[in-house]
Amino acid sequence: MADGRFAPSPTGDLHLGNLRTALAAWLFARSTGGRFVVRMEDLDRVQSSATHEASQLADLAALGIDWDGEVVRQSERFDRYEAAIAELVRAGLTYPCYCTRREIREAAMAPHEGTSAYPGTCRDLRATDRARREQEGRPPALRLRSDGRTVIIDDALIGSVSAVVDDVVLRRNDGVPAYNLAVVVDDAAQRIGQVVRAADLAGSAPTQRHLAGLLGLPPVQYAHVPLVVGPDGRRLAKRDGAVTLAEQRAAGRAPADVRRRLLISLGVGDAEAGGPNSAVVAGFDPRAMPRGPIPVAGLLVP
Ligand code: GLU
Ligand code: ZN
Repeated sequence: MADGRFAPSPTGDLHLGNLRTALAAWLFARSTGGRFVVRMEDLDRVQSSATHEASQLADLAALGIDWDGEVVRQSERFDRYEAAIAELVRAGLTYPCYCTRREIREAAMAPHEGTSAYPGTCRDLRATDRARREQEGRPPALRLRSDGRTVIIDDALIGSVSAVVDDVVLRRNDGVPAYNLAVVVDDAAQRIGQVVRAADLAGSAPTQRHLAGLLGLPPVQYAHVPLVVGPDGRRLAKRDGAVTLAEQRAAGRAPADVRRRLLISLGVGDAEAGGPNSAVVAGFDPRAMPRGPIPVAGLLVP
């Protein structure tokens, strides 16, 4: 049994790729008899909104996805993240970073495009340099002081993923905890056994696994779901047309039809895909899931 979760950022409507990943996460958890929770990753207060949260939850429900307990919001859990950060600070595993790069601003969001490793600019600043920057009034972000090790995870869908642990941002310079820290703290707090999410986040998993270890938290298993791609072969986006459930509805396709197509694309048999949740869950076999990128066109055929 492995508890699972779907953890969207409420910054817009979910598209067919997000919805397919949500269904996959739900199927993985439910097919093992596990709990399934929804967590709103709303650390980015500028882009997140209650309206987006409500429409995302309505879309999940319209696809027949059910979840256990209340929806958790990261914006309400800063004290947990600060406690974890304090542990890392006490262990000497952090350093202040005065860089003003976009990367620091964006640390609240999951890096779907992948990020380049931090070049280490502020890693070994002398005390005088630090003092000068403080005097200039530049508030620092806080970074993990990694040891350059390579961590390999064994992913249930994409096989082994290897990456050098990066000096990721733990707290942005405006005081907001960063995605990589929050996700690790929450997955442990919510007792998640398996993280099922989009494949463009696979590169973050080794650093997250390492961070969990530093915090004395149990490792989670991973299953990174191959992306839905647009006609141009790039990951699905707004530009690709009717990609949200609302747009699909407007185009005359009911949520039940979309659900059926998405389930079939996840390897659920035709007969089960149109049935109730119990049949769908019984008809799911992770080994039957396609392993390559999924062209959106295949999801739109009636
Ligand atoms: N919040 C991330 C997103 O919007 C997902 C992060 C995760 O699943 O670890 O896609
Ligand atoms: Zn720096």
